[in-house]
Amino acid sequence: MKYISTRGGAPAQAFDDVLLNGLAPDGGLYVPETWPTFTDKEIASFKDLPYAELALRVIRPFVGGAIDDSALAGIIDGAYANFDAPDIAPMKEIGKNEFLLELFHGPTLAFKDMAMQFLGPVFDHVLKKRNQTVTIVGATSGDTGSAAIEACRDRDAIEIFILHPQGRVSDVQRRQMTTVLSDNVHNIAIDGTFDDCQALLKAMFNDAPFRDEMRLSAVNSINWARIMAQIVYYFWAAAKVGAPESHVSFAVPTGNFGNVFSGYAAKQMGLPIDQLVVGSNSNDILTRFFETGAMEKGEVQATISPSMDIQVSSNFERLLFDLTGRDGAVTRDILANFQSKGRFSVNDKTLEAAQALFYGARFDDDETKAVIKETFEKTGELVDPHTAIGIAAARAQHRDSSVPMIALATAHPAKFADAVFDATGVHVDLPAPLADLMEREERCQVMANDLAAVQDFIATNARQGAIA
Ligand SMILES: *Cc1c(COP(=O)(O)O)cnc(C)c1O
Repeated sequence: MKYISTRGGAPAQAFDDVLLNGLAPDGGLYVPETWPTFTDKEIASFKDLPYAELALRVIRPFVGGAIDDSALAGIIDGAYANFDAPDIAPMKEIGKNEFLLELFHGPTLAFKDMAMQFLGPVFDHVLKKRNQTVTIVGATSGDTGSAAIEACRDRDAIEIFILHPQGRVSDVQRRQMTTVLSDNVHNIAIDGTFDDCQALLKAMFNDAPFRDEMRLSAVNSINWARIMAQIVYYFWAAAKVGAPESHVSFAVPTGNFGNVFSGYAAKQMGLPIDQLVVGSNSNDILTRFFETGAMEKGEVQATISPSMDIQVSSNFERLLFDLTGRDGAVTRDILANFQSKGRFSVNDKTLEAAQALFYGARFDDDETKAVIKETFEKTGELVDPHTAIGIAAARAQHRDSSVPMIALATAHPAKFADAVFDATGVHVDLPAPLADLMEREERCQVMANDLAAVQDFIATNARQGAIA
């Protein structure tokens, strides 16, 4: 299995190189040269597998021998050992042919753990085998950062620097990052938006001397291994509701387009997915794209679902590459245009191809709270604002009531307790391991949105040993 760049200007690489590089050298994102596929019989057999075993089946073809099978199996087993639900990703029925897939049972209470708990040990394994170290730099709109820090803390071969937009993540989200006082963990609060953080990150990776000197690596959702690990739960959930005999649809609260792209990947691999419903908050650039074929950047608005306060969804590039017939040059030109003009549009044929699978639905904060309240009253389930957008999107766009619709629950309600309280009057406590989070000591550097200053901070604060 080799991976190619969405911008067509980088050599094909194996899984382990793609894992460590994150972004391709031409600025594109790595995608598999071809999609591995499963037969209907194989998909039917997934129903009875434990989560970790299914993960091994789904992940193995993508790794393509870059990690030997027994090591891979051990990494996957370890990755899902820290979840507080015995079956890792429990499914609940919340209405007729309506399901909730809970992806928040990992250590940081958001779906990011589903991939990140795998990514940490897989990085460690590959680095140790190569006798190498890396500096991981990430940008987070809230949940990625804590998941990455939790997965990488105290690993000798890794320095990790996480940028977050100051004041735009919840207290719990911030504290889950800044209270990890491990020597290899560095938090930077940027005076700006998540998109500013993401732009800084991209600029650092495009600065070749800096990238090489610091051995930069990314664990943002641009890293292929995260997309890969997320594909697993699409198969997991679909098999539970009768796939492949029955088709299945998913509704995904979406920010950077990583989660829902994993659903798209599952479909390419043979899973009979009817609809992928992209749920957005007031930052509805994706909804507008799937309605009109025009991607038009607006101002980022702060909402009660901050992990989706994004205007530029990095992983959309992977879909765009497929929509353009996997033409790297065309993809590159479209994105260059978008970068300079803040806008691009696709032709009718491309839009129709996207609309055959993708549906959009947007909800503002009031609508989101109403869904939290209604869900609690009707089902007794307390859901966080991101999950509520998934549920609302599922209902708004469910085309065929005979096809099971699975909404992805992406965060534990305790992670966004204020919004849940506002909507329901019920206070959700943090689970036991995080009970004293609000009392723990924090460490964080506040910085201006200034590339040179951030690079200087990273160069100065990376432990010597790790970059020797
Ligand atoms: C990251 C995140 C999202 C958005 O996922 P993407 O893969 O970026 O689209 C949605 N909900 C929660 C709780 C998240 O942490």
